[in-house]
Amino acid sequence: MSTPRTTLAAYAAHDVTSHGRRVIEPVPKHRSEYQRDRDRIIHSTAFRRLVYKTQVFVNQEGDLYRTRLTHSLEVAQIARTIACALNLNEPLAEAICLAHDLGHTPFGHAGQDALNGCMREYGGFEHNLQSLRIVDELEERYASFNGLNLTFETREGILKHCSLNNAKQLGELGERFIARHQPSLEAQVADLADAIAYNNHDLDDGIRAGLITLEVALQCAAVSQQYQFVINEYSNLTGKRLISEVVRHMIDHVVTDVISTSGDAISAAAPKDIDAVRTHGRALIGMSVDMFEQHLALKQFLRDHVYKHYRVLRMTTKAQHVVTALFESFMQTPELMPPEYQHSAAKLYAETGSAGRARIVADYIAGMTDRYAVLEHERVFDPAKRS
Ligand code: MG
Repeated sequence: MSTPRTTLAAYAAHDVTSHGRRVIEPVPKHRSEYQRDRDRIIHSTAFRRLVYKTQVFVNQEGDLYRTRLTHSLEVAQIARTIACALNLNEPLAEAICLAHDLGHTPFGHAGQDALNGCMREYGGFEHNLQSLRIVDELEERYASFNGLNLTFETREGILKHCSLNNAKQLGELGERFIARHQPSLEAQVADLADAIAYNNHDLDDGIRAGLITLEVALQCAAVSQQYQFVINEYSNLTGKRLISEVVRHMIDHVVTDVISTSGDAISAAAPKDIDAVRTHGRALIGMSVDMFEQHLALKQFLRDHVYKHYRVLRMTTKAQHVVTALFESFMQTPELMPPEYQHSAAKLYAETGSAGRARIVADYIAGMTDRYAVLEHERVFDPAKRS
């Protein structure tokens, strides 16, 4: 029997206490405000592009690995479970998760690092801020505003971290970083669900790609404990099914821990509403001390054995080369970009000089999927290819 749905807790995000949208709109007829946010994100161009953007493995490496899209969906599933169990606003948690990686460059972190390097003298590039830029400015779908005009709470959740300098330029949204306040519990859940999702699916993908074996991964307590549990139940289980069962148990174990640890923290703090959550001295969503240790150890293991594996490094080096070459080329000759970007670059150049042009070049490159970036690189640099 499934658990009956209870009403939203007082400390959850409620439509009526929302800080609202930047452009005022009528109340949605058939949905809550946060359901509308979620739906707008799903209908956006940037969301569809996530299917062809790398998580860890470059898209062309194989069809079986996580992409940014499936990563975002897995994050959302984990966050929804936790949000429901704590009587939080599930559609808000879901909306934040689906939008959290919209600003990611092609080629995962390698692409982000390369673009950030290119943008160093022009204010830098940070995918978190770019996700916000997409939902606030870059999507062109609605007659009366730029972007998706999302609620404050969804935007607050998308902006997970931010430098003090950037915070000062972000108005109401940046205030919490200056005041050292917390975001909503839904945003805290989304943030943690991201970390839970990638730790577990990168382990799974790493094994399936042959970069590591389950046996080597058993050095992590998070893996070995659940492995023991599965083997005690199903002593003959091997291969893909064994790996899936172990990963499934790992996710369930950490999610259960987060629900109970966070539930206790919320009870102890007893925030009377979302504002009390925001001004509370620390985040209320988290793992137990032991679980967090396991989580960090697994993260370190993945860094050493998967993200730094020579096959992954070869991909990321190629990716950095593509991003850097495109950036330099477009900065030098903006006329090589499609007309809409040329116009925007010329307009911002007139207003703010090279930094303005660089921002538009970064928008263009960050919006590319992996395969589009590879193709664009060929079109710009390979004389044998059609331009
Ligand atoms: Mg993520």
